[in-house]
Amino acid sequence: MAKRDPVIVVGAGPVGLCLALSLAQQDVSVILLEAMSDENFLDQVPRAGSNHPTTLEFFDRIGLYAKMEPRGIIAPKFQYWDRQDNALIAEFDHALLKDDTKFPYVLQCERIKIIEEALKMAKAHALIEVRMATEFISFEQRSDAVVAQVKNIAGESETIRGSYLVSCEGARSIVRRMLDVDFEGFTYPERTINIEVAYDFRNHGYTERNYISDPDEYSNLFHWKGPPDRWRIHFPTNIDDDENELKRPEALQKRLKKFLGIDRDFEICGCNLYTVHQRVAAKFRIGRVVLAGDAAHVSSPIGGMGLNSGVHDAFNLADKLARILHGEADDTELDRYERQRRHVAVKHTQAQTIRNKRLLEERDPAVRRRNHDELRRQAEDPALARKFLLRTALFESLREAEQIA
Ligand SMILES: Cc1cc2nc3c(=O)[nH]c(=O)nc-3n(C[C@H](O)[C@H](O)[C@H](O)COP(=O)(O)OP(=O)(O)OC[C@H]3O[C@@H](n4cnc5c(N)ncnc54)[C@H](O)[C@@H]3O)c2cc1C
Repeated sequence: MAKRDPVIVVGAGPVGLCLALSLAQQDVSVILLEAMSDENFLDQVPRAGSNHPTTLEFFDRIGLYAKMEPRGIIAPKFQYWDRQDNALIAEFDHALLKDDTKFPYVLQCERIKIIEEALKMAKAHALIEVRMATEFISFEQRSDAVVAQVKNIAGESETIRGSYLVSCEGARSIVRRMLDVDFEGFTYPERTINIEVAYDFRNHGYTERNYISDPDEYSNLFHWKGPPDRWRIHFPTNIDDDENELKRPEALQKRLKKFLGIDRDFEICGCNLYTVHQRVAAKFRIGRVVLAGDAAHVSSPIGGMGLNSGVHDAFNLADKLARILHGEADDTELDRYERQRRHVAVKHTQAQTIRNKRLLEERDPAVRRRNHDELRRQAEDPALARKFLLRTALFESLREAEQIA
């Protein structure tokens, strides 16, 4: 390949790593900047864990899937429950997608394991220069390049020249702020508490992934990792609840006992409180600078779409940047990236995650009944259930984006 400036990727999260690996595998050199060091890289708060079939196909394309599968839990099914009646409403089985994908299941595999494996692959690739403990500070665009200012591992200021710069730095993207791009949307007033517990909820009829509707206290319950077995359960909290009070061991035990209606102590392995945002950047590309993943869009974790749709951005963008840098396309391709992926972020990820939350927290008994009947109707008819799964597993959004010129 002719010598040209590398693509600068800021952030070695799942999106930055997939972008870097996909670019390198298409013969494009990359400098990957990560603020965390090798020593603290794996000390991150637990976050995403559900990887949909479409995303598994992308991981497979770069050789990452084979490393994740032994570390994850294969979850073909998911369920909707009504907590008021303690009854299963509907079950969907990805087996119905067996003719659509090589991966007719979700793989429960934590973000931290994904980035650990992907980082090893990135470090081993000759075309990727991984710069750990290197903090991106600012950038400047020129007609033929972009120049990033970083604080390097020695704490010194350094400039790095690239052909393009992609912000994969997560929701707090400095790049997005420097571009003065609005992060349009809203933040839910309440916070969500996540409890990690060593207990097998399958004893109560649950499957690996469960959405539980309740006008008082909806929740999401996932088989999170194992062995040893860990499950995660999310509950909404009230706006003015005190954080320390919410996290008190007795308060956590009380919540779990009430949820399962049994009186026993649970082995609680962790808990954290988070705020949920629904936002999409007004622009995904300005000149030689592009936004991807959480830097471009954030959403509620209900439906597990944040990491998945971010990874889809990465692969879409990698193919376009590779064609541009190999002289096979001009850089208006990047405008198409924005049209396609912004459409997906607004019309699919945002719309669906907002709908998911509304469905679970609905208070009106008549609307709840209607919603539950509709879920049942879709689950019971294989053609409708397949359509439902094509949407939740993000095939629909990918296929729709392909139609956007
Ligand atoms: C509780 C919770 C549960 C979730 N569950 C799911 C789920 O089940 N499924 C799902 O799809 N999504 C889920 N998400 C969302 C998911 O975690 C994110 O969408 C995903 O991690 C975004 O990936 P990213 O690579 O864009 O950014 P991040 O994962 O945030 O990575 C950004 C990287 O950039 C680095 N960085 C930041 N600033 C700089 C800088 N200035 N210089 C250099 N490096 C920098 C950071 O250190 C980090 O390594 C969840 C989120 C939360 C909070």
